[in-house]
Amino acid sequence: MCVATLGTTSTCAYDDIQTLSLICQRYKIWMHVDAAYAGAALALDEYHHLHSGLNIIDSLNINLHKLLMVNYGCAVMWVKESQKLVETFLVQRLYLQNNNNMNNNELPDFRNWQISLGRRFRALKVWITFRSVGAEGLRRHLRQHIKLSKQFERHILADKRFELVTKRTLGIVCFRVRGDNELTTQLLQRIHDKKQIYLTLSMHGEMMLLRFVICGMDTKEEDVDFAWAVTQTELMEMLKPQRVWKAIKFHCQNRKRNK
Ligand SMILES: *Cc1c(COP(=O)(O)O)cnc(C)c1O
Repeated sequence: MCVATLGTTSTCAYDDIQTLSLICQRYKIWMHVDAAYAGAALALDEYHHLHSGLNIIDSLNINLHKLLMVNYGCAVMWVKESQKLVETFLVQRLYLQNNNNMNNNELPDFRNWQISLGRRFRALKVWITFRSVGAEGLRRHLRQHIKLSKQFERHILADKRFELVTKRTLGIVCFRVRGDNELTTQLLQRIHDKKQIYLTLSMHGEMMLLRFVICGMDTKEEDVDFAWAVTQTELMEMLKPQRVWKAIKFHCQNRKRNK
């Protein structure tokens, strides 16, 4: 099998599903796509390009607890041929027999899709969320999420001391302090010590980066500005001793020159 990722955890990078799926189809390899985070964007017209290649994959997974408002945890998996799962996991015992003839075997018997026989009734909370928020409501939530991340991205782009490490897609902004990696890790330490906002650390190539992700249900623009203010203030505080040191050096050099 081949497992490709549509939106990686670290930087929300996308594998080339189109190319991979054609290779898998040719060599009869089961192709699974992990779209745990970015899969939600398949519901948006403006992210239509993410669909490319998905028509010939074998299975796909999306976490509804990430961007689709269902409370933790809830992952949904789609399989093209569920029969393959049944062939693998089928358990037939007299005590497991049910009245399948009643529904002409039309309802899937999920215990035959997995190792364990029982499973939690997560479908109920999916149904309640989808029915109460509605498809448009979910799309609105998603777009709001993306809009807020763009707001943080604009702050980063406007401040020369920071840089984006990867292109922002969906709600994840990957940024760093220009210069040595040490500056970025130090900044994160200070932010965490302050306990006002929480960012996560990751790495891309040789570069340490901070991940800004909105996780709340009702995050507002002022919350994003607050997060930015904390980030900026901490950097300023961190650079202060260095600035003083630079000023002293500058002063000494000038004195020498004047002499
Ligand atoms: C969040 C995430 C996961 C982890 O999902 P769990 O359901 O918590 O195991 C896996 N893959 C990607 C790409 C993710 O974004």
